[in-house]
Amino acid sequence: MTEHVKSFYAASANPHAPWPTLSGDQECDVCVVGGGYTGLSSALHLAERGYQVVLLEAARIGFGASGRNGGQIVNSYSRDIDTIERNCPPDQARLLGNMLFEGGDIIRERIERYQIQCDFRQGGVFAADTEKQLHELKAQKARWERWGNDQMELLDKESLRRVVQSDRYVGGVLDKRGGHIHPLNLALGEAEAIRGLGGRIFEQSPVTDIVPGERVQVKTAKGTVKARFVVVAGNAYLGNLVPELAAKSMPCGTQVVATEVLGEQKARELLPQNYCVEDCNYLLDYYRTTGDHRLLYGGGVVYGARDPADIERLIMPKLLKTFPQLAGVKVEYTWTGNFLLTLSRLPQFGRIGSNIYYMQGYSGHGVTCTHLAGKLLAEALAGQAERFDAFARLPHYPFPGGRLLRVPLTAMGAVWYSLRDSLGV
Ligand SMILES: Cc1cc2nc3c(=O)[nH]c(=O)nc-3n(C[C@H](O)[C@H](O)[C@H](O)COP(=O)(O)OP(=O)(O)OC[C@H]3O[C@@H](n4cnc5c(N)ncnc54)[C@H](O)[C@@H]3O)c2cc1C
Repeated sequence: MTEHVKSFYAASANPHAPWPTLSGDQECDVCVVGGGYTGLSSALHLAERGYQVVLLEAARIGFGASGRNGGQIVNSYSRDIDTIERNCPPDQARLLGNMLFEGGDIIRERIERYQIQCDFRQGGVFAADTEKQLHELKAQKARWERWGNDQMELLDKESLRRVVQSDRYVGGVLDKRGGHIHPLNLALGEAEAIRGLGGRIFEQSPVTDIVPGERVQVKTAKGTVKARFVVVAGNAYLGNLVPELAAKSMPCGTQVVATEVLGEQKARELLPQNYCVEDCNYLLDYYRTTGDHRLLYGGGVVYGARDPADIERLIMPKLLKTFPQLAGVKVEYTWTGNFLLTLSRLPQFGRIGSNIYYMQGYSGHGVTCTHLAGKLLAEALAGQAERFDAFARLPHYPFPGGRLLRVPLTAMGAVWYSLRDSLGV
């Protein structure tokens, strides 16, 4: 049995009974492989449209990044629309630009419609360490406004300090259309919603083989699902199940700590409006306070997704650089999780043959885009593939160095970008 990692989220999860393990044969319209947001959003949108859905999860619902992440509802994609506008034909850029804020809207709609208790709070801040980053944030704000987000506010040093009690930043931007959630409770609530619509979910059911055909066969150790369509949603935890996908992406780890309970007053002294925050560095820090008033702080990247030996030693210097007033604070939880990086840092959607679909590679910012992915997948299976294909047409390339050298080469690249961040050039 593979359980959730020991995290603050697992310790504060809403009560949830385990789902059965697949045993024997099942038939359905769509079989979804993976019980993170990509799989759950797909299954929920499909079930809402009346499809018969089976979802197979190797461990527990929300076992992967979706149950461990920073909980930040960050709009847009891991690379912003300017990169897309520079590299894609105008019709494709227009479609992708029109979807920049839809993932966040879907999350808010899910929470509301299915009454999911996941500590949702509105508002996220991008904080700049340098004038160069602030200049880029102003440009991002102008771009997002052009694509329809009129809920952004530029913060100079003084106004930023009113929302983040730290001296390290020169300014920032508040996105009132961002926000934060307890990510595992969102995943668990979405699974319940799928159940309510007649979807079948199986945990502890790792898929071992996908046999293509008019009816695809999806095999686990103890059973088989036959389906007209399959959705591969294993992201950084997929391993080599679908070798075509492994070549153009790389699992990476990022680490999080949650402090002891600080109490409401102390939590509001750090983040008076309870916004979540991420900085603008290539290897970025992200943090927020939790429903029970802890500081939850994440940062750094381990290329190749090895688990670092001492997470507290890795994250605490970052946390104390931001909030030196927390010197001596106790850390109660530490954990690591894997996200999937693509070379372009744009998401990787597509089809293998005509009826096996995949969506993955959100490159560190996936809370919103995974929710969008599920909606687009459901549209595509219902015959309206234009928006899914706007993502599927994004080109993807293998990492330089192949499987052997991609980790050290990418890490060297990251050192270069981090150096530029710290020098402010
Ligand atoms: C520590 C951390 C912090 C992050 N913080 C943020 C943040 O604050 N904001 C943000 O936007 N993004 C964040 N991200 C990224 C975001 O969490 C991910 O992009 C997103 O959750 C990916 O969802 P997913 O469903 O595609 O993958 P996952 O959530 O990883 O789910 C994949 C699931 O597939 C299952 N699976 C794999 N192989 C099989 C198989 N063979 N059979 C059956 N099941 C299988 C796995 O067990 C897993 O449960 C963070 C990521 C991490 C790791």
